[in-house]
Amino acid sequence: MAEINVKEIESLIKIISRLPGLGPKSAKRIVLKLINNREELIKPLTNALAQVYKNVTRCKICGNLKSVNSNCICSSKKYDQICVVENIADMWVIESAGIYKGHYHILGGTLPSFEGKNTGNELLIESLVNRVKKNSVKEVILATSASIEGETTSHYISDSLKDTKVKITRLAKGVPVGGEIEFLDDGTLFSAFKNRAPVVSD
Ligand SMILES: [Zn+2]
Repeated sequence: MAEINVKEIESLIKIISRLPGLGPKSAKRIVLKLINNREELIKPLTNALAQVYKNVTRCKICGNLKSVNSNCICSSKKYDQICVVENIADMWVIESAGIYKGHYHILGGTLPSFEGKNTGNELLIESLVNRVKKNSVKEVILATSASIEGETTSHYISDSLKDTKVKITRLAKGVPVGGEIEFLDDGTLFSAFKNRAPVVSD
């Protein structure tokens, strides 16, 4: 990026090109747009970023995003259904498909597929069990990906929930093997939700 020659701009382009869907070319275009609109874009953007940095955090109970100044939605009222997803992007896709209106639990990833030291401590699995007990939840919908990692995670969760006697369902095989929830079309997602089936432990 020798042609730019301004240190500040170069480092901004580097940061922006790390965002999803953007490369150095589009990052340059964005930075140029920002520089040409200092008051209308740079100022409010700087402010908005600072506010998000300062005030938005991940809830330690349900994994959703919350404002540090208010209680998370998971503590607001009783609920009898929880949909378990791997990450926030997955939740947003299910929400925007309009097929589920209940509460979510965002794990923050999946367990590795191999048997190893990982006991799931870094994922929000223990807090899911607590939520189920505390709210007398009737159904846990496992909406993890149909990948090996997603299946492993889903098995681990159903195992962890065994004592609670909650009904556990898993998205049906409308989800392609190896597919990720985030990239499904609404139709596939709808049939997977509609045909979800109870988890049978072997
Ligand atoms: Zn929460």
